[in-house]
This record gives sequence, C-alpha cells and structure tokens, in this order.
Amino acid sequence: MSIAGGVSTALTRADAAGARSIQVFTKNNNQWAAKPLQNTEIEKFLENSKKFDIEVFASHDCYLINLASPDKTLLKKSRSAFLDEIDRADTLKIPCLVFHPGAGKGSPESESVKRVAESLNWALSSRPGSDVTLTLETTAGQGTSIGHRFEQIAAIMDNVEESDRLAVCVDTCHVFAAGYAINHRDGYYETFNQFDKVIGLDKIAMFHLNDSKKELGSRVDRHEHIGKGHIGAEGFRLLVNDPRFLNIPMILETPKGPDGVEDIVNLGFLNALAGEKNSAIDG
Ligand SMILES: [Zn+2]
Repeated sequence: MSIAGGVSTALTRADAAGARSIQVFTKNNNQWAAKPLQNTEIEKFLENSKKFDIEVFASHDCYLINLASPDKTLLKKSRSAFLDEIDRADTLKIPCLVFHPGAGKGSPESESVKRVAESLNWALSSRPGSDVTLTLETTAGQGTSIGHRFEQIAAIMDNVEESDRLAVCVDTCHVFAAGYAINHRDGYYETFNQFDKVIGLDKIAMFHLNDSKKELGSRVDRHEHIGKGHIGAEGFRLLVNDPRFLNIPMILETPKGPDGVEDIVNLGFLNALAGEKNSAIDG
C-alpha cells in the first residue's frame, strides 16, 4: 500500500480498499537514504492501524538492497540500509520485513547463498532485541537473483544461526514464473509438498498474491491482476481455500493507479473464489 504523504496514509487507503492486512514501504523504495521517522508520523500510523483495525503485517525493503552482492562497497551499503529497514519496522511495530534474498551477479550459487546468510547473521546479531521477523521472499529467478528454488531458500536458512528469527513469504507470481505449476490442482499440491519437504510449511509467514503476465518457468517477474494472467482463477481458488493457510496473511501486489480502485476489484475476485468453495460446502 502506497505511503505517499506519509506512512500513516497507507491505512486510510487500505480502509477504503476493504483490506484487513497490508504491506508498506517505510521509506522511498528507490533511494538508499531516508529521513528518520518523525514522532508525530509514528503516532499517527499506530493510531490509524488501531482505528481502522488493519494489521500492517509487513514492510518491504528498498529495491536497491542486495544482500548477495559480490561488490564489497555495495554489500556494505546494502547491509547498513537493511539494518535501517529493521529499525524502521521495529519503530512502527511491523512484525515482518520482507526482502528478496539477493542477486549473485555472476558468483557461483553456493557463494551467493553464503553471502546472504552472512548478511543475515550480521543483521540479527547487530539487532538482538528486534521483534521483526526477517522474511525471505521466493523470487522469479530473474537475472542472477537467487531464491527461485526452494532449495536455495533452505540453504540460506540452514546457514543462519538464529533461524527462528526468519520466515518465508511465498509470492504466487514468482513461484509460477520460477517453474512451480500452481495453476492446476496436481501442480499446486506438488509445489506445496515440495515446499514442506524442503523448507517446512510452518515457515510460511505470508503470501503475496499476484497473477503472472509471463508463462510458467519464464523466470520473468511481471505481476498481473488476479485471474487475468497465466496462473488464472483456479490457482487462487486452491490457495484461498487451502485450510493450511487460513490464518496466513495474503497481500496483493497487483498493478494499480493512484486511486487504488484495482485493489477493490482484485480483493472482490479473491473473496468470491473463497465464497464459491463455502457455498459448495453449504450446498
Ligand atoms: Zn512479492
């Protein structure tokens, strides 16, 4: 949800869209530095969250951060910006910080995995008192980015000492573009069986619900409105009715204009899919 005009405005927008759980950026997502959050803005944010009864479940880190960077200067810059993201989430009492593991830029996969794990070990030991769960997002595998195979996420987590402070965000567009066929029943169950075997379903903190503009296995990350892409209604019907995930926040990252009316359409579509199943049971 956009924070144009200050972080607290996200809650007014979320309320208008009928959302119950949202994700925000806590700063401009394309800039390294940001002014510290002002006390009045923090208070307004927490007040609005209560007033509208909307949970701000996650903040998403800035797009410039690369915790796998082989460039020493960029890695250092990324790590300190990541720490700032943790602090901002803590200040706003946001439980999860979602981030893409990183891009190896030509390094062997094992090295990239190690670098991300080292970055996380450093961040966690630098913030022993933080309440923020560092939440690795599954990626489409575009370019040299890692995190498109469940095994890569598991390998990162295995190399982090305080792995109980980590969780996973499953992005439907990304896993589909990475080659997991969640668009039909067999592929859907096979995907989550694999996830369970490799990482463990109990590590899923949240979902990003996005349809995919690109085909299965394309490894191209382009979000589409729910039901209008290559995943289609069936994949989302399976997910929103899966009893294993009923209490897991599901968050839209679909394209939208400034008035956010598209959120209402996409939420309506998902609610209808959940309703279909319920009326089938009632019938
Ligand atoms: Zn996402």
